[in-house]
Amino acid sequence: MGTEPVYRRILLKVSGEALAGSKGSGFDLETLAFLIDELAELVKDGIQVALVIGAGNLIRGQTLQSELQSLGLRRVTADQMGMLGTIANGLAVGDLLEHKGIPAALFAAHGLPSIVETYSVAAARTALEDGRVVICAGGTGSPLFTTDSA
Ligand code: UDP
Repeated sequence: MGTEPVYRRILLKVSGEALAGSKGSGFDLETLAFLIDELAELVKDGIQVALVIGAGNLIRGQTLQSELQSLGLRRVTADQMGMLGTIANGLAVGDLLEHKGIPAALFAAHGLPSIVETYSVAAARTALEDGRVVICAGGTGSPLFTTDSA
C-alpha cells in the first residue's frame, strides 16, 4: 500500500539560474533533464504542479539596463525584455514536459497572441485539475518586480 502524498497541489519557483545549472546562463541539458524527471515524479504521484518561472539565465532587467543605460536602454524596457525571457523559458520547459508525456499549460501575466495565453485563475485551476503542469511566466506583468514577487 503506497503512502498518500503530503501535498495535493504545489507551487514551485524555478529561477532562470535553475535551468542553467553550473553554466550560469543559457540552458544546461543535464539540469533540465533532472528538473523534468523530478516534475514527472510529482505528476505521477497525482500532485498538481504549478511553476513560476524566471529568466535570470537569459535576461535580468536591472543588470541589462545598467550595462546599456549609457546607450539609452530604459529600465522599464529592460524589465519587459526580462518578462519576455520568462515566456521563452516557459515555452522551453513546456515542450520538454510534453516530450516526456506530461501535459503542460503555459500562461503569462500578459499573453502574446499565438504564443502564450493570458493567466487567469480559472484557466490555471482547470489545467491543474486536468493534470497539466501549469507554467506561470511573465512574473507580475509589471516592471520593477521579480518573479519571486509573482
Ligand atoms: N520581471 C519584471 N517583472 C516581474 C517579473 C520579472 O519586470 O514581475 C523581469 C525583471 O527584469 C527580472 C526578469 O524579468 O530581472 C527575470 O525575472 P527574475 O529576475 O525574477 O528571474 P529569476 O531570478 O527568477 O531567474
